Amino acid sequence: MNQSMKFCTSCASPLNIRLPQGDNRERHVCSECGEIHYQNPKIVTGCIPEWEDRVLLCRRAIEPRHGFWTLPAGFMENGESAQQGAARETMEEANARVRIVQLYATFNLPHIDQVYMLFRGQLLNADFSPGEESLETCLYEESEIPWDELAFAVVRETLVHYFSDRKQGAFVPRVGDINRLPGAGRDYQVTML
Ligand SMILES: [Zn+2]
Repeated sequence: MNQSMKFCTSCASPLNIRLPQGDNRERHVCSECGEIHYQNPKIVTGCIPEWEDRVLLCRRAIEPRHGFWTLPAGFMENGESAQQGAARETMEEANARVRIVQLYATFNLPHIDQVYMLFRGQLLNADFSPGEESLETCLYEESEIPWDELAFAVVRETLVHYFSDRKQGAFVPRVGDINRLPGAGRDYQVTML
């Protein structure tokens, strides 16, 4: 279990890790009231904001990967759709309005228990500026993308497929797994469906 949790959110008693009856994996179980606290992957929803032949990237003003470039994305909130979340993140990080047109990339990141859903979104106009979590926002065409300064593997992989598809003239939805390789570095392995 990657996510640590010490106390019951119902009664504040300490949690034990054990196998509940009829289950097939260990869970956090309250020592007092018996509540089972399930932990499941989180959805990160985000956008590839498009303007003519360029995409909008944000330079991160927050950790992790402060100063590196990313697509606007963040944890999905309760009560919203993934598409709404992608548009909201684009507004929050780049003060930009988009019309969501397609779910383009879905990536599983099992080592951090996250699933990324990245949508293509057409910018409604060329008005954008850094939000609270961004240092800079900039439209890039393929040849200008700062490939060595991208924040995350999932952003790199998405953009590689995106520009390849753009050349072919058709955007094919992609599904893949990104696994961090053992060791201290940022090496990773990608497996596409
Ligand atoms: Zn409890």
